[in-house]
Amino acid sequence: MALLVLLNGPPASGKSTIAERLVATRPLALRLDIDVVRGLLGDWLQRPTDAGLAARALAISMARTHLAAGHDVFVPQFLGRPEFIDELAALAFETGATFVEIALVLDRESARSALAERTADPQNDTHRDAAALVEQSGGTSAVDEMFDRYEALLDQRAGARRVEVERGDIDATVRAVEVVLSIAASRSAPPERARPSHFSISHAPTDYRCPFCLNIRDGTSDLPLEFIHRDDDVVVKMNPKWWPNNPGSVLVIPTEHHENIFDVPDRLALPIHRAARNAAVAMKVAFGCDAVSTRQHNEPAGNQTVWHFHLHVFPRWENDDLYGTKHAPADETELRDLARQLRAAWPAATAT
Ligand SMILES: [Zn+2]
Repeated sequence: MALLVLLNGPPASGKSTIAERLVATRPLALRLDIDVVRGLLGDWLQRPTDAGLAARALAISMARTHLAAGHDVFVPQFLGRPEFIDELAALAFETGATFVEIALVLDRESARSALAERTADPQNDTHRDAAALVEQSGGTSAVDEMFDRYEALLDQRAGARRVEVERGDIDATVRAVEVVLSIAASRSAPPERARPSHFSISHAPTDYRCPFCLNIRDGTSDLPLEFIHRDDDVVVKMNPKWWPNNPGSVLVIPTEHHENIFDVPDRLALPIHRAARNAAVAMKVAFGCDAVSTRQHNEPAGNQTVWHFHLHVFPRWENDDLYGTKHAPADETELRDLARQLRAAWPAATAT
């Protein structure tokens, strides 16, 4: 998983140099210095706000392309407001990258002296640009204002990983950043057990003699057995237990043995749904019931008692109190009669 790393920090905290060091050990990682991009724009110092916005938009496009190709992107940039940080986080989400927000922390006095040194002896165009911009925006007071904004921002950025800048020891700061990155990378690739591709849980005893499999395979049952419908994927049978005010309920059961919702494969979802809907239609036609409800239970605490997935379909009547009543064995004669009615009303064409 690619990393999108924001290296935020006050002026002269060493962001660009740290980013340079980080990409040096990562083939094809991109050091996306937005100030460098801004410096590519014609006469940008005359329109610094527009140029800054244009540079950020260009940077987002570059980062998107590179992250989509699976490469890491490092953005060394002073940001005193959260909007662009949120934009970077959204980009990481969009591209499936891991976003790491690092906030370099440096005391104001150290930053001032570092900035003064850099202004007196700029090492590159970006340093010269930054010095010109600071001068243009009001010199020292502009730097103080950036610091104030940065400190206020950090108070709101709970997710930012703070790294203390070791003045004069860039190696130590880089090592501290590497630790943060290695933790972020390990979190972004959780072990298999943390995110199972298939969750499965069983409560059936090891020697379970599945009554539904016996019904389906052998046609045998200890209780009255009436099938309403049968195809390759599912059977629909009368529930031999009835709720007193809701006689004629049925069970939709996949013909394959799967214990519960965690195990039923997706390919059976449509056949199960289709059978449930056809049962609902048959109930409306045969019984003239007021409504239809379905129920499906998983695990003992969920009232599952037969360890083979099944979906209940109930005919409902006004004020039938289905959820307040208890089931009891069905009357066999009535069960067989209602089964005949449902079979006769079963929809002929399979709706899709
Ligand atoms: Zn079974």
